[in-house]
Amino acid sequence: MKKICVINTGGTLSMRQSESGYRPSPGYLASQMANMDELSQSPMPEFDLLEYEPLVDSSNMTPHIWRKIANDIEERHTAYDGFVVLHGTDTMAYSAAALAFMLDGLSRPVILTGAQLPLGQIRNDARENLKTAMVLAANYQIPEVGLLFGDHLFRGCRSTKVSATRFDAFDSPNYPPLATVGTSIEIFEENLRLAKPPPARLQVKPIETTEVAAFRLFPGMSIDILHHLLQRPLKGIILETFGDGNGPTENREFLDAISSATEAGMVILGCTQCLHGEMTQGSYATGTALTEAGVIPGRDMTIEAALTKMQFLFSQNFSINQIREKIGQNIVGEISTITD
Ligand code: ASP
Repeated sequence: MKKICVINTGGTLSMRQSESGYRPSPGYLASQMANMDELSQSPMPEFDLLEYEPLVDSSNMTPHIWRKIANDIEERHTAYDGFVVLHGTDTMAYSAAALAFMLDGLSRPVILTGAQLPLGQIRNDARENLKTAMVLAANYQIPEVGLLFGDHLFRGCRSTKVSATRFDAFDSPNYPPLATVGTSIEIFEENLRLAKPPPARLQVKPIETTEVAAFRLFPGMSIDILHHLLQRPLKGIILETFGDGNGPTENREFLDAISSATEAGMVILGCTQCLHGEMTQGSYATGTALTEAGVIPGRDMTIEAALTKMQFLFSQNFSINQIREKIGQNIVGEISTITD
């Protein structure tokens, strides 16, 4: 019989109502799962539950907890057929991307899921998401970090939260789903990553650097504020540009702020503010000027993947030039390659 490990980090799925709103509730998930008869029926796997202490609302997620999840998976990697990570929806896309970068040599499914309404509510999405994630983690060859929500399994590092209320809360705007979940589960093998061939083994690569930021361009933004942001200890920044990679290039102060930060060794990556599509930074003169000022095109990466990738690269002892080169290149399927 297949066996998986369910790691509960917190989030709405296992929360209970309190006077101040939903709160994590230690032990509650285990008691709810004990009453779910369907968990003992095929195709449900055997499972061990690992509950974190403390459980967190994912607004309180940290790189320290990412490290704990990654280490726990590494220690148990060959003992289980797969892993389910229960996580709040608010920062699930960040954690999914971070874990994808950290779990080098992963050969088992790691499926993140959560819910918009907790298990204890009469009407909820928690039960289906939990059961489907468990079935996927146990019974399919998915050697990567996926995010299961509603009807879709997405690549973790391509996912983004698109709704605060809908049951289909996530999307993967620039990469097709890994699987769809309806009356049957359909896996799209051609969209999956290939596991590294043996003797590769899972190795956790840390994320420790936090001196990165994201800055959204908008008409009327203060260049003074941008100047203040582009100072040490900041090491790298995601510039959320307009459309396919454009900025207010008539504003000389803006371009000067960007080019002097580049000269001072800052890594500046451009991503688009649009949900869908690619930032190429070359179709308009307003984009080309950004490239000339040192902005590296982040192409079709999500902001979540771009931020965690920057944290990841700065944590690996690469030189600034190596980071500038690697940040625009594919590592774990987070960015489309030119031939895709
Ligand atoms: N605030 C909650 C969290 O991210 C929201 C959720 O889980 O849906 O933990």
